[in-house]
Amino acid sequence: MNQGWRERATLGFLAFAFLNAQLSQSALAQSGRRGIVRDTEIELLLRDYAAPIFQAAGIGKGSIRIALMDDRSFNAFVTDGRRMFINTGTLMDAKTPNEIIGVIAHESGHVAGGHLTRQREQMAAAQMMAVAGVLLGAGAMVAGSGSRGSNTGNGGVGVMLGAQELAGRTLLSYQRGEEQAADRAAIKYLEMTSQSPKGLLDTFKRLSDDMMFKTEGIDPYLMSHPMPQDRIANLETLVMASGNYKAKDPAGLQARHEMMKAKLLGFVGKPEEVNRKFPLSDTSLPARYAHAILDYRYKKTNESLAAIEDLIRARSENPYFWELKGQVLLESGRAREAVTALRRSSGLAPDAGLIRGLLGRALLATGEESNLPDATRELSNAVQREPDDLETWRSLSIAYGNQGNIGMAEYSAAQEAFLIGDQQSAVNHAAKAKKLLPPGSPTALKADDILNYRTKRLN
Ligand SMILES: [Zn+2]
Repeated sequence: MNQGWRERATLGFLAFAFLNAQLSQSALAQSGRRGIVRDTEIELLLRDYAAPIFQAAGIGKGSIRIALMDDRSFNAFVTDGRRMFINTGTLMDAKTPNEIIGVIAHESGHVAGGHLTRQREQMAAAQMMAVAGVLLGAGAMVAGSGSRGSNTGNGGVGVMLGAQELAGRTLLSYQRGEEQAADRAAIKYLEMTSQSPKGLLDTFKRLSDDMMFKTEGIDPYLMSHPMPQDRIANLETLVMASGNYKAKDPAGLQARHEMMKAKLLGFVGKPEEVNRKFPLSDTSLPARYAHAILDYRYKKTNESLAAIEDLIRARSENPYFWELKGQVLLESGRAREAVTALRRSSGLAPDAGLIRGLLGRALLATGEESNLPDATRELSNAVQREPDDLETWRSLSIAYGNQGNIGMAEYSAAQEAFLIGDQQSAVNHAAKAKKLLPPGSPTALKADDILNYRTKRLN
């Protein structure tokens, strides 16, 4: 096994943990830092898109996690057979769920076909780390030109060079066969699940056309998935022959798709983009959602809250409207009201660790001692579901500390430091925690894991 590669992969994932952030104004305000964004609503939708395809492909339930990359170019890739990354840009450009499902089916074809060769992984990892600024250094990731190509701006050049270099050597010819096999597998999975292969063809055609006409910022997907005309032609023949060609996505799924796109546009789009897509005359739920989020981003708290109230009046059972309300209230310093909204949200989506984490943070932010036990409970529950959520570990450490439980406070601080990649401070906190926690308790054992991490990794 190539040790250098392993090390770099670890570095990459640590960097991702660091950038892991809930879709929020503050997370995206860290301009120039691109990474994974977390959002319950979108993650659940993607899981619903993928579940039937994964099953058809024989990919075990829960064995691949789908993560959302904050990047407006088109990309989707599986790195280590366990993680499928999809760019926000891929989702925002998709007219239908079927287009995304097609791409997921193609990627699943690579997984099931065992195409995750070291070269492919390295290329995906190179792209990933370049996007995160790990390889290029954060300085190379200058944000803000704002065009569709902005994310592939300076960072993208480095990615392209690295990828092309790799591709030039061995990958391209070798990949052709794999691409066609993945296309055929995708069509099979779509047939098995009675879904149309049209979205896959439309998407790949669009990418292939882009490749010829775009002058800047080629989508990274094209570098790992070459799309010569003969491949598109072969795909077209297969797609046209499908009995499900005319099959449509269920209306409910299309509606969730529209809400997802509106949410993403609200969070990452420029105001003029939002206004163009959703003029004020548009009173649909997606339009109001996008504007509520845009107002929140631009600190128009009252306008945002009024728009969210409207949404809640229309769909009071939607947990994500309550979540957004809680987020806006919390970030504008109204923690007590945020708690009320987030309790509603969590009640409607009890399995959502991210929402529980937010609720825990809101409880903590009230500054009321009587809320500490509740805060600790919600935050503990949240980290069990979302062990990579460092914000929640940080809050949990504070909540325990405020209650005088120093062992657990140190343990939580150790987890937080570990996720940031600060080994030294993780070890320091874990050592203190271990002295205070009951010997042999599950938490003490986890503190041991952190203490032993460095040595383990070298073996
Ligand atoms: Zn492919």
